[in-house]
Amino acid sequence: MELNSFPLKNVDFDVDNNQKKDSYNRYFPLGANSPGHMFSEVKTSRFTAWKGTGSSIFDKEGKEYVDLMMGLGPCLLGHTPETVVHAVKTQIENGSVFSTNSIQELELASKIVDANSHFMDSLRFTCSGTEAVMGALRVARAFTGKNAILKFRGSYHGHSDATLAIPSHEIKNTIHSGLEAFCYEVDFNDVEALKELISEKANELSAIIVEPIACNMGLVQPTNDFLRTLRELCDQNRIVLIFDEVVNGFRFCYGSVSKIFEVKPDLAVFGKIIGGGLAIGAYGGRAEIMKVVEQYKGAFPGGTFAGSALTMAAGLATLNELESGKLYEKLAALCGRFSSIVREGFKSNGLPYSVDNIGSIASFVLIPSLEKLNSKVDVDRQNTQLFSEFHYEMMQHGILFPPTLEEPIYFSAPLEFKQIEDIAHLCVAVFKKISVSKDV
Ligand code: PMP
Repeated sequence: MELNSFPLKNVDFDVDNNQKKDSYNRYFPLGANSPGHMFSEVKTSRFTAWKGTGSSIFDKEGKEYVDLMMGLGPCLLGHTPETVVHAVKTQIENGSVFSTNSIQELELASKIVDANSHFMDSLRFTCSGTEAVMGALRVARAFTGKNAILKFRGSYHGHSDATLAIPSHEIKNTIHSGLEAFCYEVDFNDVEALKELISEKANELSAIIVEPIACNMGLVQPTNDFLRTLRELCDQNRIVLIFDEVVNGFRFCYGSVSKIFEVKPDLAVFGKIIGGGLAIGAYGGRAEIMKVVEQYKGAFPGGTFAGSALTMAAGLATLNELESGKLYEKLAALCGRFSSIVREGFKSNGLPYSVDNIGSIASFVLIPSLEKLNSKVDVDRQNTQLFSEFHYEMMQHGILFPPTLEEPIYFSAPLEFKQIEDIAHLCVAVFKKISVSKDV
């Protein structure tokens, strides 16, 4: 496929970026409100969004890009889905936040609990995934009377001190000192290391927190053994098993991925999709465990905006769209089609790379002759320089990929098959062009 199938946008991202740096740095340290917004791992650098509709995002000059980033997860229905826009418009006319109980929060909670009734009796809403993880960890500490947590190398569970206690070096001095004594890590999918750690530290561990389909390393899928072993070890040692489904939840099926893997968590954390594009988090589980929220009144996250009517309305409209399950089939087919074209294209062009995919997400595997990432060890071997060039080239053709290999490619409902097939062919052509011309 010719590279010009998607007309060039002729954006000089470098010039644009320098100008932006001045104005954004004037108001925000590092010029952004979240590390992901900085585009620091790719040549493209910053992107300033003006608006989004359907599967497209527009820059400030009105140039249109196909958006495969989709807010890094919340926008499974794309931007501005009609039913969500209608629900939000109606709700804003009726009040957005009351800081009391509301009809809307009851409706959304009952939908989420019903979808997860195999392990969930009740939940608490928060305003972000970070806060929901904080809440779940507090519940686990209160329930077990233990303090420490175990997480998996390369995972991300929000920006609270407890979950960043074993940090990457850039943030080391900003985390509450001493917390690292209460945090352990082993590699994702490493069952032997997991067993060994538990045999030594079971008496300290309140919770194991895991993102079952790890989306903060691009895409790392759990082996059959891994989640089942987690469940067994938690049962044997009175450790709370927390599924962090801030990205996973309602993305691969209507509810928790525990339905797919047939492994039940004690608590699950949701976010992103359940807010329909508005800020949200939620944590919940079995009554026996959630009861500690009642016992220790006030010791758990509150929030002026927790369960706000506006967010609830957006979430409800979204779950109503997803409930029949039909969209999951379309999304998996779209993503599967993209992935198989790219895989075949790599092969027929002699490029030693691959793509892994599940449901509505996919991730490039830019390591010679490897088909799937298995843990952070593989993630660290990715050819980030090749990806940086690729990202820049794809932007020039009007396709916005997430600006790091550590986020998956997010497919959304408004995408069309022809569009996705063309993008897949273009990806292969661009990887080929860069590999030949730059030797990266
Ligand atoms: N957990 C996971 C698995 C996440 O991916 C994220 C955010 N990407 C969070 C927690 C934190 O959510 P939020 O950004 O809404 O605070």
